[in-house]
Amino acid sequence: MKVVIATNNRHKIVEIGASFAPHGIVIAPLPRMTFPPETGLTFAENASIKAVAASQSTGYVSIGDDSGLCVDALGGQPGINSARYAGSPTDDNANNIKLLQEMHGTTRDDRSAQFVCALAVAQPDGALEVVEGRVNGIILMSSRGVAGFGYDPLFFLPSVGKTMAELSPIEKDAISHRGRAVRLVIPILLRLAKAKRTGSTKK
Ligand code: IMP
Repeated sequence: MKVVIATNNRHKIVEIGASFAPHGIVIAPLPRMTFPPETGLTFAENASIKAVAASQSTGYVSIGDDSGLCVDALGGQPGINSARYAGSPTDDNANNIKLLQEMHGTTRDDRSAQFVCALAVAQPDGALEVVEGRVNGIILMSSRGVAGFGYDPLFFLPSVGKTMAELSPIEKDAISHRGRAVRLVIPILLRLAKAKRTGSTKK
């Protein structure tokens, strides 16, 4: 089964591809393409926009993703604006500084947050399925750890006693929103692969 990952971000292609490989799901190269603007109001809508665009353009089953950080005390912000929270182009350090500023004066009891990752699976015939992975955490008052990217150094996992940036890639994958979403998408892809082999489109 060959699928396309609807992103021009090589890191995501490598990361998601590594999880798919043991299941015989192969990543087909995506010709450089311009995606439509992410005009959705949710992670699921934005993931779907990317997946549908890639599927229509390549004829392959395509996976679109969108992810970000939702902070309860900020009414769910930065949410779908996570990448460019502090402005464009994306600057992880500036985003973390802005997050700490916005949360100034918030006590530890009021610093709960979730990382969310939506993955959309689009078929060339227009069929679309979306899954979502989440992980709960607490936004620290200052950074800890150097691994990962984005908001990882501020995102503390009480169940592990570490921030996301203190986890190895394997540890992060086991617990993260993206790892969880990828594990939800694999059965969908295996079902589509089986349907293709047997010539059935039944779900
Ligand atoms: P996108 O899914 O590439 O649009 O990423 C959205 C933004 O959400 C990233 O630029 C990060 O700021 C944040 N984000 C998403 N996933 C993670 C993660 O695993 N760790 C830290 N930040 C993340």
